[in-house]
Amino acid sequence: MPLKINVPYSDKDVAKSKGAFWDVEQKTWFVPDHKDINDFQQWIDKSKASVIIKSPVSIALNSSDCYKCANKTAVISLASNNFYYLSTDDNEDEKWFRADGLSFFSMPIFIENELAGKINRLFPNYKIAYSKTAESSYWANLCENCGALQGDFFLHSEPGGAFFPLEIEEYEQLTFITVPSKFDVEIDADYSWLSNADDIPDYAKSITYEEFLEQKK
Ligand SMILES: [Zn+2]
Repeated sequence: MPLKINVPYSDKDVAKSKGAFWDVEQKTWFVPDHKDINDFQQWIDKSKASVIIKSPVSIALNSSDCYKCANKTAVISLASNNFYYLSTDDNEDEKWFRADGLSFFSMPIFIENELAGKINRLFPNYKIAYSKTAESSYWANLCENCGALQGDFFLHSEPGGAFFPLEIEEYEQLTFITVPSKFDVEIDADYSWLSNADDIPDYAKSITYEEFLEQKK
């Protein structure tokens, strides 16, 4: 899907000459899917986004035993197998690199509003909260039963954690909820490189956002 960019009025001719388009309905400039987004870097807010997920993004759903009350609670993570991440090239220049292979995104400190709203409709216990372990605030899972924060370190970095599955039975516990959007999605989060990234989707369940909403009613 195309990527929204923030082009000031004074830059509009330059943006257009590079191949950006204006979306009348959303009143925004955007970069078509096939273009290299590095040609449009100056209009992407890197202080806000470290990852750009190609639409559709997925919400990975699993359950975990709460460390505090020991009850099962739903936990989620954003996930994608098609995204850009910000890094530096051989010349130490910051640029966007394309990744493929499934990644779970941990400790997000920014999720753009439209997606955050969609997540909130399904999972109101996923919110920005302070983690004592991380000594910072991020979008985290709070226990449905007691409200305790289920830290992303535990969920993402401990082998066998909800988003670090190692066994086929663990892959099967996951559900990927695909969330369509007109534009690509910007977040600021860490990404994972799992050696079994390609296997997990073969065993996990998959459902669309609309179907999941319908089921929840
Ligand atoms: Zn609990």
